[in-house]
Formats: sequence, C-alpha cells, structure tokens
Amino acid sequence: MRRLQTDILILGSGGAGLFAALHAKQAAPELSITVAVKGLLGKCGCTRMVQGGYNAALAAEDSIERHFMDTIEGGAWLSDQDLAWTLVSSAVERVRELENELGCLFDRNADGTIHQKAFAGQTFDRTVHKGDLTGIEIINRLAEQVWARDIERLEEHRAIALIKTPDNDAIAGVLHIDMRTGEYVFVQARAVLLATGGGPTMYEYHTPSGDKSCDGLAMALRAGLTLRDMEMVQFHPTGLLAGSDTRMTGTVLEEGLRGAGGYLLNGARERFMQQYDARAERATRDIVSRAIFAEMRAGNPTPNGGVYLTMNHLGADHVREAFKGMVERCADCGFDLAGGMVEVVPTAHYMMGGVLFNGDCSTSLPGLFAAGEDTGGVHGANRLGGNGVANSTVFGAIAGDAMAAWVRAEGAWRAPDEDALQHAVAEAEQPFNRAAGDVEQIRETLLACMWEDVGIVRNEAGLARAAQVLAELDDQLKATGMASDDRAFNLTWHDWLNLSNLILVSRAIQRAATERRESRGAHFREDFPERGPLEKSSYVTVRVKNGTADQFELAEQPVKFSIIRPGESLLTR
Ligand SMILES: Cc1cc2nc3c(=O)[nH]c(=O)nc-3n(C[C@H](O)[C@H](O)[C@H](O)COP(=O)(O)OP(=O)(O)OC[C@H]3O[C@@H](n4cnc5c(N)ncnc54)[C@H](O)[C@@H]3O)c2cc1C
Repeated sequence: MRRLQTDILILGSGGAGLFAALHAKQAAPELSITVAVKGLLGKCGCTRMVQGGYNAALAAEDSIERHFMDTIEGGAWLSDQDLAWTLVSSAVERVRELENELGCLFDRNADGTIHQKAFAGQTFDRTVHKGDLTGIEIINRLAEQVWARDIERLEEHRAIALIKTPDNDAIAGVLHIDMRTGEYVFVQARAVLLATGGGPTMYEYHTPSGDKSCDGLAMALRAGLTLRDMEMVQFHPTGLLAGSDTRMTGTVLEEGLRGAGGYLLNGARERFMQQYDARAERATRDIVSRAIFAEMRAGNPTPNGGVYLTMNHLGADHVREAFKGMVERCADCGFDLAGGMVEVVPTAHYMMGGVLFNGDCSTSLPGLFAAGEDTGGVHGANRLGGNGVANSTVFGAIAGDAMAAWVRAEGAWRAPDEDALQHAVAEAEQPFNRAAGDVEQIRETLLACMWEDVGIVRNEAGLARAAQVLAELDDQLKATGMASDDRAFNLTWHDWLNLSNLILVSRAIQRAATERRESRGAHFREDFPERGPLEKSSYVTVRVKNGTADQFELAEQPVKFSIIRPGESLLTR
C-alpha cells in the first residue's frame, strides 16, 4: 500500500470539492491540499452536467427572504432552516465570486444585468444561467483556477473507506484505489472533506453521471455516521426516453423547458397537468413526476412507455435559440424538440438526504467535513431546481474556509487504525476471491426493484418486497466474483464496488421510506397519501451499527423552526 500525507484531503471535484479547494488555499496558503477524485478533475461529477442554472436572489424586486420561503415551502417544511438560510444568503456572494473572481460569464439582459430565468416551484425568476449548459461554464472555470494553484491532484483515485484512529475518536485519513494500477493508496490527512456528490443511480431511469454511486454516503454509513432524509429522492419529471439501448435514456431535459411554457401530453396527446395542480407544468418536480407516473400507469403511454414534452406552440425558432443544447441532445436521439414532440419519463435525479452536518460543514466525526449532495438537511423533502449547484458551491466554500481554520487551530496528524485499513482492503478484495458471476444481472435487478417499489409511488407491501430483494442482492453480490484478477483499470471490479455501495444506500432509503408513514415532498406513500401536520414535522435519521446493513438504527427528530413556523411567512412579517 502506498502512503501519502496532506493537510487537507478533498474527495470529489464537483462544485463542492473545487470551491472547497480554492477557499482552503486562499484561507491558508501554507497548507497542502489534495483533491482525490474518481474521474478526471473538471470532467466528472454532476456539477458539470448542470443545465438550467443557479438560484440567487440578485434582482432588486427579489429578496433573500423570498428565496428562503420558496426553499422552505418547496422542501415541505422539513429543511434545517439555518442551513437553508445560509444557502440563500450566501448564493448571491458565490455568483458574484464565480463571475468576478473565477471568470464565469453568465447570460445577460440588454442592460448588462445578469439574466435570470424561470424555474418551477419558485415565485420569482431567479435562475442564473449560461444558455442551457450552465455547469460546463462553472466547472471549467473552477478547474482552471485549481490547476493554476499549488493544489495536488489524485485523479482516477477512488476513495473506498474513511479510516479513523484506533480509538475511533477522529478521522485519520482515507483509503483509495488508484484505478489506473489497482494499487491501494492511504492518504493521511488532518482534515477530510466528503464531497462525492450522492447520486441516485440505483433507479432504472437516472440522470447523474456514471461515476456517482453514492460512494460517500456508503463510506459515511460504514464509518458509523448518521444520515438524514434518505427517503427523499427527487425524480426529475422530464428524463429523455429513447429506448433501452441508449444511455441517453434517463438523461435530463432541463426544467427551464417547462418554466418557459412547455406542455406535457399523455399518449393520447392530451395535456393533463392542470388536473393535478393549478400551476400545471410549472408545479414542483415531485408533483409533476407523480402526475406523469399516474398517466403512465393509467395506460395509453407513448411508444417507449412515457409521456410527451412539446414546445412547438412557443415557436420553433425561439426554442432552437433559447434551448440549443436541449434541441441538439433530442436531435441526437431522433426527436425534434423545437417543432415536434419528445418522449420523456421521470428520472431519479437528486438525493435530498445525506450526512448530518453543521453550518460550518463539520460532522460528528472530528476532522471530517461534508458539503454538497453528500449532505442532508438543506433542501428538506424536495430540492428546488437551481438550488443544487447553489448548495454545492455555497457549502463547498464554507467547508474550505472551515477546514483551513480547523487544521490551523486543532488539526493534528493522527495515526490510522491499521486493523481498519486491513479490513477495508479485505472488503475490496472480496470479488477476487469468489467464482466469476454476473454483476450486470445484479445491477439490473437492483434498478428494477428500486424503480418499482422504492420509487415515485411507494406502499408498505412494495417496501417490504424491496427489503427482501435488497438483502438477497447483497448476499448475491458478496458471493459474486470476476473473471479477471488484473487490477489495472478493472472496470468490472469498480462496478462491483459501485453496486456494493448502491445496495447499502438503497437499503437506507428503503428503511427510511418505510419509517415515514405520510406523504411529503418527494416521498409519496399511496397507503398514507396525506401529509402529517406541519407543526409536528420530524426528519428521519438512519445509521448502521457495527458497519453492517442488517443493523440499521432509525430515529425521528423534530424539525426546529428556528426562523419561521408553518403558517408564517418572512414576506409578510
Ligand atoms: C443532468 C443534471 C442536471 C442538473 N442540473 C441542475 C441545475 O440546472 N441546477 C442545479 O442547481 N442543480 C442541477 N443539478 C444538480 C447538481 O448537479 C448537483 O446538485 C451538484 O452539482 C452536486 O455537486 P457536488 O459537488 O456535491 O457533486 P458532483 O458535482 O457530482 O461531484 C462529485 C465528485 O465526486 C467524485 N467522486 C464520486 N465518488 C468518488 C469516490 N469514491 N472517490 C473520489 N471521488 C469520487 C466524482 O467523480 C465527482 O468529481 C443537475 C444534476 C444533473 C445530474
């Protein structure tokens, strides 16, 4: 095993990881900083895939209070209000930093102000964007800034275990696999940031990049950390549906299309959203996804089994100009977005749940920080479109500042628990010691199980069925090996490791979804269709005891209405 040392280790190079690296370097230039990432820095993760844009209350007619109320109401009053306030108040500063210090250029109005577009579920058009491919602008500029600084990179290094001290009282470092060689690499660090970005890729239709397999959440669970809101999985209503033989199926067609006035039609080519919500296509993602799912179940689907999205009535030339990236993506799959109809299906997009963390991004494990989609609490039961990249950049920046201060004040080198290191290696080696089997079949069963029974509409019987299937899949995976024992770029090995993480996190989702016997935000129980009283809102936490998924421990914690109570509004105070 190779051993390295760094003052600050950042896992992941999305918006959270790169903002953290830049802020930590600026706050404490004398500290060594290393970004370890499963892919290539700047080329992987979901921040690069951001299409629609970034929410910030920039306009004079808008306000931080309005953005806050939209976020709290969108999240069905489950959010940690202090975290949500940090999100909306700091987003303005981060957008300014992105433009004025980091070199991003967002679309503008004729008067030179930043253009902000409509996104569903918001009472003001506040989404800052660069055309309809905003993430490429953000991540390219962030990556350039990181490349230009004295920041170490461990690319194609996959983190596999958070390693604590022998007495479990702090983090000592992180075990990785150098994917290029298969070598194990232990990086000892005084502070570690978990910013691997969640990613619900355990569902049949999903949007996140292939490098995302809930690694951070699985590592956190195995390290005994507590997660919250795991039942809250957001489905984006409009995933491209182009058949099962293309990986374009499931990729997202951005929310701005509905924001701009796009219509959804069922297989009979009838508009249906007005029957489900007064805001029709501009209702929040959970409502639109459920409505589409109901239309799909009611029969009469499109040829590939979904519904249609059409923009034709807005003028093909206008659509071509305003949504160039989306028009080209649809054309690649044979659909005419500007002048015709595109088949779409709800697609698993984002996990509101994640690691319990504090306002300075610290966690319950000293030295371990978390930011971005790996964390829970900011969005509550549902995330507003445009609040995702705001979340990763706002909290990434906070984490960078906080880790720099922590290392200076109290961060010490800590010796790792050598037994834990050896145990983690043995766990990763498992597939080399088993007879070759069909990893892909396990993956397909997982995707179907989660889509059918732990997806958009849930009930007790389906969740119980899923519990059984997930336990069986876990056993099957542990008994399944690989044909090749070559460790260099062995993608079957990495698929195996991905699946191991996805099954563990799926079990956490299933358990939390069973625990919540009401419908709220992204979580819909057809056996408990009503929402419970808002004043009694509580969030579900889950952790595993002794590192084993058979010993989940669940609890309910009351939401603290630290800023605003249900029924009140900051706008009318
Ligand atoms: C298609 C798509 C469109 C979206 N559009 C929008 C939008 O318009 N507006 C919005 O607000 N949000 C949007 N989102 C959500 C947004 O992308 C995320 O909320 C946010 O970017 C997450 O940032 P992050 O830094 O937490 O994670 P990511 O950007 O996903 O970065 C995670 C990083 O961790 C790395 N990693 C993963 N596992 C490991 C491991 N084991 N070891 C080391 N590194 C690892 C990954 O390679 C990656 O570099 C969209 C998401 C998708 C998928």
